[in-house]
Order: sequence, then structure tokens, then C-alpha cells
Amino acid sequence: MSFADLGLSDKVLQAVTAAGYTEPTPIQAQAIPHVLARRDVLGIAQTGTGKTAAFTLPMLTLLENGRARARMPRTLILEPTRELAAQVVENFDRYGINHKLNVALIIGGVSFAEQDAKLMRGTDVLIATPGRLLDHFERGKLLLTGVELLVIDEADRMLDMGFIPDIERIVKMVPFTRQTLFFSATMPPEIERLADMFLHTPQRIEVARPASTAATIVQKLVATGSEGHEKRDLLRRLIRGEAELNNGIIFCNRKRDVALLQKSLASHGFNVAALHGDMDQRARTIALDGFRSGEVPLLVASDVAARGLDIPAVSHVFNFDVPHHPEDYVHRIGRTGRAGRAGHAFTLVTRSDERSVTAIESLIGQPIPWAEGDLGVLPEPGAAPAEREDAPTRTRHRGKSGQTLRRRGASETGREAARSEPRARKGGRRDSPERGPSPAVEAEAAPSPARPKEPAPQRTAEPRREERRPAPRRRGDEDDGETPIGLGSHVPAFLLRPAVIKSTK
Ligand code: AMP
Repeated sequence: MSFADLGLSDKVLQAVTAAGYTEPTPIQAQAIPHVLARRDVLGIAQTGTGKTAAFTLPMLTLLENGRARARMPRTLILEPTRELAAQVVENFDRYGINHKLNVALIIGGVSFAEQDAKLMRGTDVLIATPGRLLDHFERGKLLLTGVELLVIDEADRMLDMGFIPDIERIVKMVPFTRQTLFFSATMPPEIERLADMFLHTPQRIEVARPASTAATIVQKLVATGSEGHEKRDLLRRLIRGEAELNNGIIFCNRKRDVALLQKSLASHGFNVAALHGDMDQRARTIALDGFRSGEVPLLVASDVAARGLDIPAVSHVFNFDVPHHPEDYVHRIGRTGRAGRAGHAFTLVTRSDERSVTAIESLIGQPIPWAEGDLGVLPEPGAAPAEREDAPTRTRHRGKSGQTLRRRGASETGREAARSEPRARKGGRRDSPERGPSPAVEAEAAPSPARPKEPAPQRTAEPRREERRPAPRRRGDEDDGETPIGLGSHVPAFLLRPAVIKSTK
């Protein structure tokens, strides 16, 4: 099958050739004809499958007829994070070189004024994160009644981040007669429900098992005894020991750990950038550009910030923390071993990670081997913690084979961890219906569909919610919110009234 067989316009075909693509990927081959036929599409596909072009290419063809009107975008694409939204804009720039279309990017962290001006000029394609889109709508700068085609991308990530109520609101604002394209890497029940609600007799296209990991990735578990200095020391030794390391992403579960680890690695002489949701847009762009260009070979990142980023040819992924949800493991290590290239994925495992590792292994349908050699071992319960960051590494081999020892240690971990569960970790275990049980020990940071994955600092004090439906993230930034100063934008009206000071004379 070639692109010419799909019904795309000549302008689009020229751009595809210029991009160097010789044949459509499976999601493109299956989705494009249906999009061109104006049918709704439910695409179950991960990033890396070519799914962005699967909707941008036919959209460009369809948009060749008609004109945009001020404040009334013709098409709307919703993305969960700023970076993903920016990546879709890049796709329109690349494939739309022969078109004169107005593409507007509406994301948080940048000024409203410039975005307002773009909307006023008339927008053919509006690419937005939900929170900022609603902000524009509420300011009266935007009308969604002209939207002919709506794309909801990364729907499962939207759910994780608590955006579904926003999405439901937005969908109510676009015409019922629109065409809808809905993409998700996984289809938990909540996402199925939304797909049923938003799509009219859709064409369902599934291109790859969401649980699959590329065969070209060499995956290893590395045992570590502590969450602190010892773990960071082990990571440094791992990085230094990898002769084939060209560039790598280091994933942490919590965004505060991203910043901490980046600083620690930098202080040990590594050329490393950070990417997490508390960084402003400029800092994120600088970090990402440096990493993409190869100038900065290491990037410490959180799941949400790094999700779906198109960074070709990453040689290594390090899971500094075992991800809470097994799907995140698949996404993380999917950063490496792309397009048939060799990749390496190391996961640092502490005593409390046993259940998470078991869940990952059952999702990917294979055991992950432990790293050979003198990398790290799980200490026996009660062993003293490492004293200092720079203290020489203490290996605690107690048998002939480090691997055997580590394995035994790992199988002990769950029971030990459960017994020694610190009281400070309030909240206990929260089982997510979509994801399965989360380890109790990780409850403090464990994301769930009921909360944004990386809760904004002001939200951490909120009581835990057990309900499945996420709380609305009204003014939230797209992935994890900005810390408001004082009351942020939620200042009650009575506080804004001028004070009347009565004279006592
Ligand atoms: P995506 O899944 O949309 O993030 O795309 C992943 C990568 O695949 C991007 O770098 C695209 O440029 C690339 N890509 C998309 N379609 C094709 C194609 N038909 N042939 C080769 N590469 C492609």
C-alpha cells in the first residue's frame, strides 16, 4: 500500500514525499481513508506508531476546501500536554508546507494576548490543551460552533490527568454533527464509555497491543537498597558503566525527584537537563531542544512531561523509580529501541517495588532479567543505610552469585515492605479499577484516574478521593498545574470590592 492509494490530495502527497516517508504505517493505512470519508474513528494506538500523521494528513486534505472565520476554528485537536500539542503543530508545519492554513496553538504558560490575536485572524486548525481552551472560551474569545472535526488525542492520558470533565464540557460546545477522531493507547472502561458517548458509529482501528515492548530493547532490573544516596550512586555507576550510552532518559515518579536528581547528577559532572511539570514553558523548551539536538545527552523526566514526546534514537532509558502503573513502563521504555534500533532499559528496584515489577512482567508477558555483575544488591532487612552521597559503594554480596542473591532479596521485598510500611504514608492502598492495585507503599505519590498524575503542590493537601471520576481541573495547567500565588485566579468577588473605611470622627 502506498500513500497515493489512500485518497490524500496532491499537496499532501508532495509533503509526505518531502518528509521522506515511503509507505504509510498501519494506523495511517487504516485510518486515513475513513477520515477522508468523514467517518468517526476510534484509534487504539500509541505514540510512535505514526498516529499523528494518521489524523493530520487527511485533515489537511479536508481543509483545502473552505475558509476560516474569526474566533471560529474549523477543526480542534485536544492534547493532554503542552509538548504534545506543540508536536502536533510541528506535524502541521511539516505536512502543510504546501497549504496556507492558519494553525493556532493554545496552551498554558504563554501569554493570552498572542493567542487571542491568532484566534481573531481565523483558525483552520486549533491545537489546544483543555484548561487553556476553556479559559479562552470563558473570556469570550472563542466560539466552538464552527468546529467540523474534533480530535481527542491520548484520551487515556487525559483520564490520568483529570481532564475528562473538561473534555466533556468542550465536546458539548462543538456541534453534534461534527466528525470525531478519538485516539487512546489503552481502552480502560472509562475511556470506552467516553468513546461511546462522543463517537457516532466509529470505525475502530487497533494497531498494536498496548502491552507490547519492542524486541530490540534489552531490559534489566537492578536491585537497590535505598531511596536516597545509595540509589543515586547506583544510577551514576550504571550510567558510567554503559559504553554504548549515546543519550538517555531517566524517569522519576515524582516531579520533585526529577529536579533533585538532575541537580545531583549535574553536581557529579553529568551533562543533564530536567523536564517536569513545574518548569515554565521556556525552561521546558530549552531542556527538550538541548536533548533533541544531542547537546545535553541526559534528561531526567517525569512521565507526564515526557509522554509521547517524539525523540528519535534514545539509546537508554533508566527507570530511577519503578512506575506505579505497568502501562507507564511500556511507554517509558518505548522511548528507546525505536524503528528496529537497539535500546537499553534499566529499572532500579527497591524492596517495596516487588508488586509493581510483578504487574509489569505480567503486562508485558515476560520476566525482566536482573542485571548481571556488581551493580547493586538488595540489602538484608535492617542493614544500615548509606552514609553519604559520595561514600564508596558498599556491595553486600552474601553468596556466590549476586544475581541469585538479588532475586531472593526481591522475592522477600513485598512481605518485608508491607510489614515495615511507614505510618507517614497516609492514604493506604488505592486500587484503581482501570489499572489494578497500586502498591501501598507508593500511595503518597501514586497517581490514579481520580487525580492528576503529578498533582500540583496546592492539591497535595486535598483529601484523597476514592471515586473514579476525576475532579475537574478547571484552571489547571495542562499536565500538572502551576502553583497559584495566594488565591490564584480563584479570588472570591467580595475580596475584590474596594474597602470602605468609615471615619470614626
Ligand atoms: P507519532 O506516532 O505520530 O508520534 O510518530 C512517530 C514518528 O514516526 C514521527 O517521528 C514521525 O515523523 C514518523 N512517521 C510518521 N509516519 C511515518 C511514515 N509513514 N513513515 C516513516 N516515519 C513516519
